[in-house]
Amino acid sequence: MKKLVIAIDGPASAGKSTVAKIIAQDYGYVYIDTGAMYRTATWLALENDIDADNEDEIVTLLQSGNLTFKQEVDGQHVFWNDTDITTAIRLPEIASHVSAVSALPKVREYLVEKQQAYGKEGGVVMDGRDIGTTVFPNADIKIFLVASVDERAERRYKENIEKGIDCDLEQLKEDIARRDYLDSTREVSPLTKADDAVEVDTTGIDIQGVVDKIKSIIETK
Ligand code: C5P
Repeated sequence: MKKLVIAIDGPASAGKSTVAKIIAQDYGYVYIDTGAMYRTATWLALENDIDADNEDEIVTLLQSGNLTFKQEVDGQHVFWNDTDITTAIRLPEIASHVSAVSALPKVREYLVEKQQAYGKEGGVVMDGRDIGTTVFPNADIKIFLVASVDERAERRYKENIEKGIDCDLEQLKEDIARRDYLDSTREVSPLTKADDAVEVDTTGIDIQGVVDKIKSIIETK
């Protein structure tokens, strides 16, 4: 059977990564978390005291090492060279700077090329904001996941608490609404639904319900 490229886009905390991981596992595909790539660029900038709008320096930093995903018993981990940055890139400080870094055209150009290389043989589930519009405009399946800001903030709150990351629910709501705005209004590859993407509203639906919906879309292909 042909190995598909499955693009899952949508705003922050709409449940993309959770469902993308399950779908990748069920089909034996590779899961690529493109948000983690923009978060890594942001982490590199902060670690090296580089301003979040200094695109040349940030691209130089990205070129200076290796960003890799590794499957471990407790899930996928993100590495910068030999350093496990899985938790570091989820910290609120990263969330508050990532929209600025991901709006930089040269950073996007560099990371989009990497994403296209990961998916060129197919057999990939990639989640992000611009997978169906820019990274893989010819993806076999395009899903656009949405959910209310309140529900997304509550999901992120629970996730953070489980991971031991201290946070405030109201602050998360503000952060999500602010990122929605910045991601949707930036000039390069803004968050937008591709014309041929299927919109799935996950408000009030559990993970399995969303997975089943997406699988039924895949099976009809
Ligand atoms: O998906 P996640 O919330 O981890 O993404 C973090 C940030 O990375 C987003 O708010 C957005 O600014 C950026 N991003 C992007 N394009 C993607 C994936 C993420 O601009 N394909």
